[in-house]
Amino acid sequence: MEKAAREIWIEGVVQGVGFRPHVYRLAQELQIKGWVLNSSEGVKIWAEGTAEQLAEFTRTLQSEPPRLARITRFTATERPARHYPDFSITHSHATDKKDVLISPDVAICEDCRREIFDPADRRFAYRFTNCTNCGPRFTIIKDVPYDRVNTTMREFPMCPVCQAEYEDPGNRRFHAQPNACPRCGPQITLVDSRGVPQPGEGQAELAAGRILAVKGLGGFHLVCNARDDEAVRRLRQRKRREYKPFAVMCRDLDTVKYFCRVAPAEADLLTSPMAPIVILERREDAGLPISELCPGVTTLGVMLPYTPLHQYLFAGDLDILVMTSANISDEPLITDNQEALAKLAGIADYFLLHNREIFNRCDDSLAAVVDGQTLLYRRARGYVPLPVRLPLEIQPTLACGGELKHTFCLTRGDLAFLSQHLGDLNHLGNYQQFLASLPRFKQMVDVEPRLVAHDLHPEYLSSKFARTIDLPRVAVQHHHAHLASCMADNGLTGSCLGVIADGTGYGTDGAVWGGEFLAGDYAGFERLAHFRYVPLPGGEAAIRRPARMAAAYLLTLFGPEGGGLAARFLPEVAEEEIGLIARQINQKFNTFPTSSLGRLFDAVSALAGVAAHNHYEGQAAMELEGQSIWTEQEYEFGIDTGERPYQIDIAPTWAGLIRDLAEGVPPALIGGRFHWTVASLIARTVKMLARETGLDRVVFSGGVFQNRLLVMMLKKVLAELDVRVYWHQAVPPNDGGLSLGQALIANEVIKQCV
Ligand code: ZN
Ligand code: ZN
Ligand code: FE
Repeated sequence: MEKAAREIWIEGVVQGVGFRPHVYRLAQELQIKGWVLNSSEGVKIWAEGTAEQLAEFTRTLQSEPPRLARITRFTATERPARHYPDFSITHSHATDKKDVLISPDVAICEDCRREIFDPADRRFAYRFTNCTNCGPRFTIIKDVPYDRVNTTMREFPMCPVCQAEYEDPGNRRFHAQPNACPRCGPQITLVDSRGVPQPGEGQAELAAGRILAVKGLGGFHLVCNARDDEAVRRLRQRKRREYKPFAVMCRDLDTVKYFCRVAPAEADLLTSPMAPIVILERREDAGLPISELCPGVTTLGVMLPYTPLHQYLFAGDLDILVMTSANISDEPLITDNQEALAKLAGIADYFLLHNREIFNRCDDSLAAVVDGQTLLYRRARGYVPLPVRLPLEIQPTLACGGELKHTFCLTRGDLAFLSQHLGDLNHLGNYQQFLASLPRFKQMVDVEPRLVAHDLHPEYLSSKFARTIDLPRVAVQHHHAHLASCMADNGLTGSCLGVIADGTGYGTDGAVWGGEFLAGDYAGFERLAHFRYVPLPGGEAAIRRPARMAAAYLLTLFGPEGGGLAARFLPEVAEEEIGLIARQINQKFNTFPTSSLGRLFDAVSALAGVAAHNHYEGQAAMELEGQSIWTEQEYEFGIDTGERPYQIDIAPTWAGLIRDLAEGVPPALIGGRFHWTVASLIARTVKMLARETGLDRVVFSGGVFQNRLLVMMLKKVLAELDVRVYWHQAVPPNDGGLSLGQALIANEVIKQCV
């Protein structure tokens, strides 16, 4: 049989994911001769065999890559055969670190799970078991290339048995950098709150209702039995977190299904290598202490054990644990043993520690599935530092992001590397974490930026930081960045319509924007329409107290009569305060005009009697969403098309809300009608703007689109329009995705300056 050869290049996440042993095994199976090696540009393969063998080999490589590999480019070139006698894995050339992508941390694989539960296996119950298909990556890496000496596993020289696995091309642990076993790897220790070692491994303490601080992959969690109402209450009191729902971890998927409704796509996400916290609809009769665990919402954030250490917290009857980030009031996640003992002594009864250093702090990612598609709320573990592939090449850029749910972004060629979620930069600890992470990230992804992008808001700490850098700088309007982020997320170029709805963003007129219809590309934008401004009385105060915002709407939309309506429908706001707000509005004292859709959801939540406070960001809107039912009835609204930007007039909507309230319509239906109204008015505005501009692609971005009910309704009404709609995929719609858009805009803007 005539032999042929193919030279194959594979780029993407192809190192540290078992690619070469995978290729080796496939070659053996199909009797392919030749070799495979890693180089700076990826994996290179020389394959020889019959035409059929080669076709099968090439097809299988692409259709069934190793579990963790992400192939971004695959090229195969026909070559004359050189008649190799066998197939071999040849040694890597000294790699120029440039094009190798670092893998995120990966949830434990099925093979490793089998081993840790097999009493005959040498890794039985070993908490740090991993292989090329799973285990720590991003959280342990200190430098590139990704070799053991450049990770926090450096402290643990491999024993001969592990070393032999590491060197055997046929082994699942071939070149698995964090490879370890009970003889040579990291170990756990249980200590009490004074740091005194205790017998056992923590499960008995959890079963007895104690609170554990557990050092995991990217930081510490506070953990207790989620079925134990007293334990959960105690954790809430000690952590001084009164309202925000706790996330939980369940022993296995069947347990999740007992507590929550789980659609197939949600099960896939829970059990994926990323293993994020997934927001699920809770079953009401499952016997959880709801008022302690997740007050006010109908959902539950659930994840599955993603390391052997977490898996082994479940013993005996324990099947659901509260698993909440161990931090003090929104400061960064604690990662260090001593810091944990010092800061969490008043919260945790026991500490389950280990002796592997966490180098890169990383929170659990948070996601939901809407209409079969993943919607990211927080992008961190399991996703970072995988890049987003951009639709064009740009110069090396640092985008400094926003303020809340902060991420920054570094770009190289057509790749954008977003940092892990760093939280609210207004907290000093988070800001310090940003300052510490930036040089580490630069080193890891090998980027030296030549351009800096930041938000237009002059007071954002990220903007102030940007101004300290001696490089060309571009200030990017917040909602333009959202638009560009969603375009990039979908690989779009050219001009698009953008519907951008969020809480707060600094507008070019100095107002607080947040309900915007834009037309734009990476170079610029035009504001075509927006929600008519209402005064935000007292800025932050109105954000924390949606009832105040509701009063502001009533006073603005209905004049003096609004005061009476506020007194009647907003029991949370005292009469004197209504008078005060009215004066504030009339005298324009400490008020800020806003078109924010986030504030509108807050206000309606308060008006409907659902939530008068935002004890945590987004609470009122989340609770309104949770209580609202699906309906296709809507309130009236107007669109003032006198001149651009057009004004969306929701005075008729509020009149409808008031009418319903007066008639005693239940909040669930009021909420449903309000959601449908917003969907409907967005669709009608989009339809009009698409016709006027000729643009038929629409991107949706901004934190309001974390609202699953709204997104579902929008998808339904938009399906009837002649436009193509795009939702976020790889990055969150909230400000966690902002830095991606900033980077692209800065590059286009700077081109036009020179
Ligand atoms: Zn594994
Ligand atoms: Zn070992
Ligand atoms: Fe935003």
